[in-house]
Amino acid sequence: MGFIEKDILRQRQEPAPGVLYVVGTPIGNLGDLSPRAKSLLKKVSAIACEDTRHSGQMLKQIGAQATLFSFHEHNTASRLPQLLEILKAGQSLALISDAGLPGISDPGEKLVSAVRDNGHDVICIPGPCAATTALVSSGLPCDRFCFEGFLPSKGKTRKKLLEIIANEPRTTVIYEAPHRLLKLLQELNELCGKNRPLKVARELTKIHEQQIGPTVGEALKYFSEKKPIGECTIVLGGAPAELNIQLSSSKLLAEMKELIKAGASANEAARTLARKTGERKRALYALLHAIDLKDVN
Ligand code: SAM
Repeated sequence: MGFIEKDILRQRQEPAPGVLYVVGTPIGNLGDLSPRAKSLLKKVSAIACEDTRHSGQMLKQIGAQATLFSFHEHNTASRLPQLLEILKAGQSLALISDAGLPGISDPGEKLVSAVRDNGHDVICIPGPCAATTALVSSGLPCDRFCFEGFLPSKGKTRKKLLEIIANEPRTTVIYEAPHRLLKLLQELNELCGKNRPLKVARELTKIHEQQIGPTVGEALKYFSEKKPIGECTIVLGGAPAELNIQLSSSKLLAEMKELIKAGASANEAARTLARKTGERKRALYALLHAIDLKDVN
């Protein structure tokens, strides 16, 4: 049997009894609902939705008739036992959110973990996610990246997190509500400088999809003149490696000394830390050799 035939067979056998399916749904364009997701949602016994009215429209359009259960941060504790009962009774259950992948800045994580703890299988039917869609279309490095989701709206934790993000060498993806976008861009401008690469991905997958940048300064200028509307995801380029070395060379040295004390060679210590921090290995090695290695032992 070929790959395609096997996939078709699997789709025909889905949903399996007692299994939770985590299903990705469109982030704006209904055409992005995969044939497998559509088929599953039409056949499953029950669907847990963040908002039954919102998802009800899409489910009606595709002809899904499953029983809908609301599942969100305010009813997680009371709803969990009920959803587990559905699986225990040998029925199938799908989890969807208002848009994109459940569990990514959306409810889902607690249900998946409870379902696994109770010995049931969880299968993800993948679909769109604003974070990865924005990242891969930004033109910024995608080989290694961080996802921050929504930052705390104010206070010390936000400030600290923004400082960490500003010094992060990997590309960082942030979700933000349009009415708070300008404030975030102002903060990034202060911490990262106006020339740091950045893209604001607006209305992804929709008719008015846009990428605004290519720097913090340019995006700030654009949105200072034009009120941000619609959904947006921010993709921030990583901090230049030199800046990191300069900012935290003593911390990096201390970590390398620890690794060497634990038995690593200078080469291994530099390689390990380069992997961990995103700094260039050669720069770390040079930093280490600027001190007398005998001091380390
Ligand atoms: N679970 C979703 C996912 O997989 O992407 C994310 C849900 S989170 C509550 C909503 C945030 O995702 C929005 O505030 C925005 O930052 C981002 N987002 C969702 N849809 C988007 C779109 N079409 N274009 C740009 N950003 C979007």
